[in-house]
Amino acid sequence: MRGVVTTPLQIAIDGPAASGKTTVARKLAARLHVLYLDTGAMYRALAFEALHTRTDADNEPALLHLCHDRAVRIALDAASPLGFRVFAGDQELDEQTLQSNEVTAIVSTIAKHPGVREAMVAEQRRIAGAGPVVMAGRDIGTVVLPSARVKIFLTASVAARVERRLAQYQASGVDVSTHQLSEEIEERDRLDRNRTVSPLVPAADAHEIDSSGMTADQVLDKICAIVEASR
Ligand code: C5P
Repeated sequence: MRGVVTTPLQIAIDGPAASGKTTVARKLAARLHVLYLDTGAMYRALAFEALHTRTDADNEPALLHLCHDRAVRIALDAASPLGFRVFAGDQELDEQTLQSNEVTAIVSTIAKHPGVREAMVAEQRRIAGAGPVVMAGRDIGTVVLPSARVKIFLTASVAARVERRLAQYQASGVDVSTHQLSEEIEERDRLDRNRTVSPLVPAADAHEIDSSGMTADQVLDKICAIVEASR
């Protein structure tokens, strides 16, 4: 009997900093009962490890050395606080550490290196091989999972993103001003959009959603309708 090859459901959610990707991706994965991974956490974990080991964010060979030492590890666990577990060396990292100002300040520099991206993408694809998945990031629809069944490019105005991130930071006890946040978001947008390798751009077949003025649940419903229509 000839076997039927089915491709597991893969949903890519990309977009700029604080566009609401991770909140929506996690809710979507829970609703669909599939795996969830926020790839930003992997770059943030490597940034944490670089700070911890005093590795220069511009030193690609040294960063690659960290990658090959498996400095960053992911364990899929929907019941954990982040929706998956992330380790730098033996240390498990929490939301507050991943979102700290120190990590945020260097993460886009870390993420611009081609070799670093190659190592991260290989790991992300390996994780996606475990089953149906919702993956959030910057290059999921364009590079990591180019055959994903549904690709969403989630945007929002800078003002809306600053407001959301401010609420998140306040909830996790990180002290930051509106001015500092808007500068940080705009600078990361600039670096992520203009890097040579895997810049932040919508995939040609992505559905673009501007989430300014929408609640997370409204965005979720819209994406669910797109997923339903893709079946
Ligand atoms: O999504 P988050 O803001 O946590 O991502 C942190 C940084 O990691 C981004 O600003 C970007 O530089 C990098 N990143 C990336 N590719 C991804 C996910 C994140 O370059 N797939």
